Amino acid sequence: MIAPEHIRAIAPYQPGKPIAELAREMGLAEAAIVKLASNENPLGISPKARAAIAGALDELALYPDGNGFELKSAIARKYGVGLDRIVLGNGSNDVLELAARAFLTAQGSAVYSQHAFAVYPLVTQSIGATGIEAKAKDFGHDLSAMLAAIRPDTRIVFIANPNNPTGTLLDSDALHGFLKKVSPEVLVVLDEAYVEFLPEERRTPSVDWLKEFPNLLLSRTFSKAYGLAGLRVGFALASPEVVDLMNRVRQPFNVNSLALKAAAAALDDHAFLAESKRVNDEGMLQLTGGFKRLGLDYIPSSGNFVAVKVGDAGRVFQGLLKQGVIVRPVANYAMPEYLRISIGLPEQNARCLTALAEVIGQGDTR
Ligand SMILES: *Cc1c(COP(=O)(O)O)cnc(C)c1O
Repeated sequence: MIAPEHIRAIAPYQPGKPIAELAREMGLAEAAIVKLASNENPLGISPKARAAIAGALDELALYPDGNGFELKSAIARKYGVGLDRIVLGNGSNDVLELAARAFLTAQGSAVYSQHAFAVYPLVTQSIGATGIEAKAKDFGHDLSAMLAAIRPDTRIVFIANPNNPTGTLLDSDALHGFLKKVSPEVLVVLDEAYVEFLPEERRTPSVDWLKEFPNLLLSRTFSKAYGLAGLRVGFALASPEVVDLMNRVRQPFNVNSLALKAAAAALDDHAFLAESKRVNDEGMLQLTGGFKRLGLDYIPSSGNFVAVKVGDAGRVFQGLLKQGVIVRPVANYAMPEYLRISIGLPEQNARCLTALAEVIGQGDTR
């Protein structure tokens, strides 16, 4: 087959190992497996989302609302923006891809940071555009290096805040200063997939910045704090001009009807969001406390996961699999000594720590 070189050069995204696959390989019961590999919500889905899905089953023979009016209205209310500032996506991954398709060409380039979310280089490469990786600083985005990396042909800068897999968070003032310096011709995609896990005082007032920066796009998802990863739904907030361009390359029915209903219901489930955050805060303390007792360094994280330095991460990953614990190796992020571990329920975190202690040879450390 004849495929272009930029497509052949793509290293496919490596997802977390599915529970059913490990169960097959190791002859383990699925119930005995703990998966802390994909930053999924350990609480499952919100009760309001569940009810909305049940109520939408009868409509599955019909096409979804391609305009997503109900969900967009709920988002518009929550964030105080007009409907013309919202693009819905089949997961926020879709939003990132729509931005790339609307603004990149094979002659253009995109800037992102070393150790940043793997989807940025993927969507850039899929267009045949040039990816420019700016060196990270202490595993976080170095905004001066990113600014310096922007070329005349650069059309998009991707920023993950907090970043996955490092969990690093940028200072709001530094980010605002960066936006003021970037040319208005360059779209800045600020990916805020984990924003709901941040305490109020550490959240960037990014929605307020939309009016000031018509070249700013915020990417949000229902996959993490809202617990709807399997339904695939996310959204972008941006200027009406950017939204209009992205809608031109969007599939007419890119978000399915169950996802539309569930997301609209989940958006207003404040109790579920608060509980997700509480479980995450406590689990983060539990896991990082365990790492400290094991003498393992970790990168302080603002997400629902944490990157821990274990040395030969490939070996430790395999050892954990044998004990029925799935985490995520991040060698593909140029972090061969680290594992990324998602925050689970207290007993899942404890299982993970016990297995980790076993694999690195230090007994029980719960
Ligand atoms: C998980 C994640 C996403 C989004 O995932 P979707 O499920 O496609 O919404 C986006 N950006 C980052 C940084 C993530 O970690």
